[in-house]
This record gives sequence, C-alpha cells and structure tokens, in this order.
Amino acid sequence: MSPERPPTAAPAGSELNVYESAEARFEIAARRLGLEQGVYRYLKYPDREITIYIPVAMDNGHMEVFIGYRVLHSSVRGPGKGGIRFAPDVSLDEVRALAAWMTWKCAVVNIPFGGAKGGVICDPERLSRTELERLTRRYTAQLAEWFGPERDVPAPDIGTNEQTMAWVMDTYAMHVRQATTAVVTGKPLELGGSQGRKEATGRGLMICCEKAVAKLRMKRETCRVIVQGFGNVGSHAALLMHQTGFRVIGAADVHGGIYNDKGLDIPRLYDWVYGQGKSLAEFPGGGEKVSAQEILFRPCDILVPAATENQITAANARRLDCKILCEGANGPVTSQADPVIEEKEIFIVPDILGNAGGVTVSYFEWVQDRQGFFWRESEVNERLRDVMERSFDQVVQYAETHGTNNRIAAYILAIDRVARALKLRGFYA
Ligand code: GLU
Repeated sequence: MSPERPPTAAPAGSELNVYESAEARFEIAARRLGLEQGVYRYLKYPDREITIYIPVAMDNGHMEVFIGYRVLHSSVRGPGKGGIRFAPDVSLDEVRALAAWMTWKCAVVNIPFGGAKGGVICDPERLSRTELERLTRRYTAQLAEWFGPERDVPAPDIGTNEQTMAWVMDTYAMHVRQATTAVVTGKPLELGGSQGRKEATGRGLMICCEKAVAKLRMKRETCRVIVQGFGNVGSHAALLMHQTGFRVIGAADVHGGIYNDKGLDIPRLYDWVYGQGKSLAEFPGGGEKVSAQEILFRPCDILVPAATENQITAANARRLDCKILCEGANGPVTSQADPVIEEKEIFIVPDILGNAGGVTVSYFEWVQDRQGFFWRESEVNERLRDVMERSFDQVVQYAETHGTNNRIAAYILAIDRVARALKLRGFYA
C-alpha cells in the first residue's frame, strides 16, 4: 500500500461511511437526551487524531512505509481504551468511528475508561512474523508518549493478537525503562494477561443472548443460532453458545461457511480451523455450503454478526429472518438499516453492549496488572457476567423509559454517563 494514496473511506454521504453511521445514532440519542449545545459539541468530536508514517525494513531488504493512526475520542471518564486494527482497508474515518464507539461502550458497561482506537493500513496475512514485529514496534515507538496505563491503553482488534500486544508492551517498557504491563491489555497470560480475556467478547455475547432469550420468553434449547465471522469473537461465541445448550446451525468466515438446520458440531469445527489450521468453508461436517453474506439471511432465532462493519444495510436488512440480532462486530449494521430492523421488530443487542465483554475483561486485566495480583478464571467470568447482566438490564430499562429501541437506549445511557462526568469536571479554559 503506497502512502501517497491511502485508501479513502466510503465517501461522505455514502451509507457505508461508518463514521456517519456512528454520528447518526449519536445525533438521535443526543436529541432525545436533550443534551445541551456545549456538551454536545464536546462529545461529538475526538480529543485528538494522530497519523503516523511507519518505515519498516521488509525481509527482502526493501523499505516500506505504512500509514498508522491512533485516535483518542475521549478521556473524560478515564484513560483512552481501545484496540489496534491491522487491515488493508483501515481509514481515518473508520478509526475515528471505532474510537467513539469505545467511549460509548466503556460507558454502557460503566468501566472507568474513555475511548480510543488505532489502526495500520496493511495486510497482516501477507507480512512475515518478523515484518509484523518490526511494524508493531515502530508503531508503538512513534506513539509511545501518548500511550500509558493512565493515558491510552491499546488492545487487540482485527488483525492483531496476544503476540502483537506482547510486542507493544515490550517496546513501551524499553522506552520508559520500566516494566509496564498495564500499558496494554489482551496480553499473553505469561506477561500479565488475564484469564478469560481471549474468550471474553464471545462470553459477553453469550450472556447477552441468554438475557435476550429470557426477556422474549424463548427457550435456549430450541434457539437456532447463526454466527457470521469465525475469528476470536465469532469462534468463541459459537463455542460457548454450543456448550451452553444453544443450537448453532450456521457459521461462516470471509471465505464462506456452512449451514445445517440440525445443528453443527462446533467443537469439531473449532478444532478444524484452530487446531488443524484448515478453512471453515471446507469443513466436512455435513452441512450446506453458504457464502458469508448469504448466511445472514438464513432463518434462525439469533443472528450474531461477528465479522466486520456494514454487513447489514438498508438494501438487504429486509431479508433478515431472525428474532434477535446480537452484534459481535463493531458496526455490523448501517444506521440506514436501523429503521428496517425496528420495523421488523427484531430485538437488537447493539454492538456497544453485545461486544463489550472484551473491553470489560481488558479492564479486569488492567486492574490485575496494577495490583500485581491475579484472579482465577472463575472470578473473571463471574465478574464479567455481573457487568454484562447489569448493563443489559439497564439498556433494556432505558429503552422502555425513553420509548426507543435498544441501540438508541444504549447510546442514551452512555452519553448521559459521559456528559455527567464532563459536567462535574467542568471545562478547563
Ligand atoms: N477491540 C476490542 C473492542 O472493539 C477490545 C478493546 C479493548 O479491550 O480495549 O471492543
């Protein structure tokens, strides 16, 4: 990817511009909340946006320059928090939207963080391990003064993992000349990571589905589930839902997926992909082959889009055939599709609630690192359940009180919390 021509985000006014999708929901919620002008303006814009050009020596001896971003949307309720995404189509607009979503997400689950996000335009599948290491270290070094346990705390996202976080931590520690495990979360267990962090987003989704099923008086055993995306989020959501008695009937990754109304053997599928390194679409487990897009429209009770943004749009939302839509990805539904989903009376668990299990256990990891005292997995999972259940109940209650859907209710709850904190702090002139 040449730095002279960074890929542009979907143009302004396009349904697929995620920043505009995020803004549209913010506007509706702010209006409903009667947010005063000054606070509205303050929360609408990020605190800072950094673009860096990252020179990396490639294995073949050439030097490449990659473009990277880190956006801090808000530090009103605490240090910035949010993942680093490595993907070919990263754009500043996307990172800006994802950073704002982190602010709202942390506020929905009431953990003491602001919101941030980072990204590098690259294709991690085409980079060697050593190239990825050099890219990660240089990205971290260029942003070192902005990172810190009380400043801005990165985590994994699409295209990054525990190893990436270990490199971020080590690079930061070399710069500040002291071990600083709490500068980043999602680390390996051996380096101050937390039990249960890897599965946390999937577990949070599973807990939200349990709550939604109970709310709609449905039965878990008869609930058919489809999961789009089989990365860290989708695979663990599918696995945990299978283990807790849901019937997972469809799973897909970018290359395609399988569907079987009688249910899929998810542990075998997980082993096929992660144990044997094979492609999900080629799983010989008896099922119909379906594309990653088509799987969204197969009949089911719960649909979990856990792949990436903009999967459900105004053009295709009418084809949804589910009762509950529980969002694992950030922004899988465009704002223009929201009215269609509402009209179809689909019960929505919005991304800023549904996938908040990840950042919640990131918070637990940060707490444990700072205390130097680590919790058992059962303690982590119990505390996560507590946070998710309470947040789910609050969102649903806000929806009832404000006569709105769960998505706008989650935004109202979040904006209200951040606005109150902001007013207490006051504006420093
Ligand atoms: N990347 C994850 C998210 O979008 C986790 C962020 C974190 O743990 O800081 O929520």
